[in-house]
Order: sequence, then C-alpha cells, then structure tokens
Amino acid sequence: MHHPSVTIHDKQFSLYIPERKILHSVEIVATRLSHDYRGKRPLFLSVLNGAFMFASDLMKEMSTPCEISFIRLASYSDMHSTGKVKEIMGLNEDIRGRHIIIIEDIVDTGHTIAGLLPQLRQKGPASVEVATLLIKPESLQHNLAIKYPAMSIANDFVVGYGLDYNGLGRNLRDIYKVI
Ligand code: 5GP
Ligand code: MG
Ligand code: MG
Repeated sequence: MHHPSVTIHDKQFSLYIPERKILHSVEIVATRLSHDYRGKRPLFLSVLNGAFMFASDLMKEMSTPCEISFIRLASYSDMHSTGKVKEIMGLNEDIRGRHIIIIEDIVDTGHTIAGLLPQLRQKGPASVEVATLLIKPESLQHNLAIKYPAMSIANDFVVGYGLDYNGLGRNLRDIYKVI
C-alpha cells in the first residue's frame, strides 16, 4: 500500500521517495555493479536488519554471477572495547581474496562503516566497496569513499523500505521522512 503519510509510534511521516523512484535508483546501482564486477564473482555482505529489502531488489537486478551472505553488527560491551566498534556476527565465509561489496541501508555519520571496513580488510579480501541505499552527505563525519550510493538525502530521519523507527515501518514500500 502507498500512503501520503503514516503514523508510527508517536511520530508522523510524509511520503518522501516513492517505490518506483527507489527501484529505478536500485536498478542504476545494479547496472554499475554488474559492469564493474563482471567475471569477479563478488560476495555481497548485507547488513541486517535494515538492508534486507535493498539487498533483495539489488540482487534481482544483477546480471553477473554473484554471491550474498548476511551479517549483523553487534556493539560489544566488554571491558576492553571502546564501546564504539561493532563486532561482525554471522560471517561464516572465508573472504580472503574475495571481492566484497557491503550492502547497507543508510550511511549517516559513517561511524558504522568506518568501524566495519578495517575489520573486513583485516581478513584479506581482494577489495571492499560499499553499496548503500541512502547516504546523508551533510551528516558524514568520516572521510569515506562510498562508491555505490543509490540515493543522497538531506539530514532527515527516514523510514520504510527496510528502515525502521523503533522496530516499525520496515515493511513500507516507499520511504517516508519525519514531519
Ligand atoms: P551511521 O553509523 O552512519 O551514523 O549510521 C548507521 C545506522 O544508523 C544505520 O544503519 C541506521 O540503522 C541508523 N540510521 C541513520 N539514519 C537513519 C534514518 O534516517 N532512519 C533510520 N531508520 N535509521 C537511520
Ligand atoms: Mg544499517
Ligand atoms: Mg534502526
């Protein structure tokens, strides 16, 4: 269903990016990736939960053989951690020598990706790039080269198409922004 606005918990959201525009931008990223990774059998690592819908539509548009696996990032809270680095959960593949493409829902400050990249590089992949559905360039606090962003947005809080507000809204077909 498509709605001009939705209420989730205590907040109201208005339609921001309609499904057809999302799918068009996903198609463009998939075309670039298919071209750049032809013959390389890339391994996509999709970050749960937020990227599940983007990952699904992106994979359907890939026209060169590729693999996908799903990871989760957990903040660890032991005494030795800084409290900022998030541990990678669920990565069972050996990524040594592989071409890795991280699939993210959104890059906001960039802290998450900035913490994830060195952890993956430590495992000896041939290359690591990032494909993200959304990026907020005004919020970015790290010098990150995000090679495959589908769409850039202003610094608004958004939900839908996989992105949640306190657990709800992931199932919406369109992307909404908080009013
Ligand atoms: P970063 O580490 O780049 O600041 O942000 C990463 C995470 O913050 C995202 O993966 C996402 O879970 C959350 N996030 C940042 N901006 C938004 C937003 O506008 N909407 C939602 N639903 N989550 C966001
Ligand atoms: Mg995310
Ligand atoms: Mg969330």
